[in-house]
Amino acid sequence: MLGVMQEMAEVTAYLEQQLPAGLELLREMVDINSFTGNPEGVNRLGRLTAERFAPLDFQAEFVPSTHRGWGDHLVLTRPGRSGKSIAMVSHLDTVFPPEEEARNHFRWQREGDRIFGPGTVDIKGGTVMMWLVLSAMRRHAPEVFEAVTWKLFWNSSEEPLSPDFQRVCRDRLEAGTLAALVFEAEGRLGDGVLLVVGRKGRGGWRVTATGRGAHAGGKHAFGANAIVQLGQTVQRIAALTDYSRELTFNVGAIHGGTVVNRVPHQATAEGEFRAFSPETCAQAREALLALAGPGSVCSPQDGYACEVAIEILEEWRPWPPNPATDGLCQLWREAGAQLGLTVNGEARGGLSDGNGLWDVVPTLDGLGPWGDNDHCSERSPDGSKLPEFVSVSSFVPKAALNVAAIVKLIDAARERA
Ligand SMILES: [Zn+2]
Repeated sequence: MLGVMQEMAEVTAYLEQQLPAGLELLREMVDINSFTGNPEGVNRLGRLTAERFAPLDFQAEFVPSTHRGWGDHLVLTRPGRSGKSIAMVSHLDTVFPPEEEARNHFRWQREGDRIFGPGTVDIKGGTVMMWLVLSAMRRHAPEVFEAVTWKLFWNSSEEPLSPDFQRVCRDRLEAGTLAALVFEAEGRLGDGVLLVVGRKGRGGWRVTATGRGAHAGGKHAFGANAIVQLGQTVQRIAALTDYSRELTFNVGAIHGGTVVNRVPHQATAEGEFRAFSPETCAQAREALLALAGPGSVCSPQDGYACEVAIEILEEWRPWPPNPATDGLCQLWREAGAQLGLTVNGEARGGLSDGNGLWDVVPTLDGLGPWGDNDHCSERSPDGSKLPEFVSVSSFVPKAALNVAAIVKLIDAARERA
């Protein structure tokens, strides 16, 4: 135990020494606009990332996205001597278009422990965390570093949920992959570290109400009002939310009608539902689709009824709590106990690339640094609105935690072999 503590003190000292270089790398990354819809920027960031990991002996593969308007995914590989492999996952893109960054003067800005800027915590800080962890492993756990086949994956388009990235990962994962480690931001509970051990699944949907158009003055009673129908239908959809099962339905957008002297013949709404368990997601889908069919809004003159059509636009399966993830979280908890850090797991409502990996490889998320206000670029003079930032002081302790836990993961695999 004393030996481990001494080693960890050395690792921490090394990480402190590497942090300025890590922050310089972060600054270079934040200075490149890598909005998902800016493929040149995303590709520039991909090339910079490959360059900065090359001294650790990683080989780069750029994989074109199946979406023509998006940049290339990046895969870095370092073959190891044993049959064991570890995957690390991050993404290149941010949610901030260049115009928005310019309008809000949103750029690299250090204030005390905080660094504000696009992607500082979601997720360029996570990429820097990977670099710190791998650098420290090579220096202080060279045997483990050389033994493992490292596969690092960067999604070019995580924010809009790129449909092809999970294939890119799944096709390239080694048979002996011990874990997929996702470097999205850490959560906090008091001083405690919260890792991500599950995420909701999501279903996107569209409802179209079709009625019968009519002159609002001359033939009002002949009309079947599609907007009124849709209003009723979206109320019923909203009522499917069941917080006791952590199931939510969100009506997110609504459109209908054309000009006001017509009884409108069409209206549409779009939204999503989310839940943690595959069963709840399946039931939610059923309950939603059951609302399709003849509507209750009819022409008062001849009873012509509106029609309600419902489409499922896309579905993302949930990452439910599971034993493989819990096993990883336990290793991080034990490593935390040795380092004097409280570590726990939480399930989150938002999706990540973990949703597409947990069923093939034990997956743990939230391994990046701590920060807050991700996806926000605005700042108000009174400080009630602050943009995305990363906490500088969260890097070293979290990197040390990740190093200690990865060593435990390899040790545990060796004991099993
Ligand atoms: Zn992210």
